[in-house]
Amino acid sequence: MKEKIIYVCEFCGKEFENKEDAEKCEANHLTKASLNFEPHYASADIDHTGLPDYLTLKHNDKEYRYERKLVEYKKEQQKEKDKDKEKNKDKDKGKDKGKD
Ligand SMILES: [Zn+2]
Repeated sequence: MKEKIIYVCEFCGKEFENKEDAEKCEANHLTKASLNFEPHYASADIDHTGLPDYLTLKHNDKEYRYERKLVEYKKEQQKEKDKDKEKNKDKDKGKDKGKD
């Protein structure tokens, strides 16, 4: 049996067969400290989350805009709420049985 070593980029998780390629991948990623981004907010009557509506990021004389996927975010929140409701229903049933 042979063992095979793989190298994993710590930023994106891509696996490489040689260390140099993994190091190149890591060197290519900009870290939080080196990113120059600016948050932009919607007013509180539109968005109560407090999260930025979008971020602008300047890099190599270009400006990029990252927007939040609000629809998917709300769907995930609703899924979590539904799960919690189901859990609480089960708990309530257990309480009723104990009283009788
Ligand atoms: Zn990477």
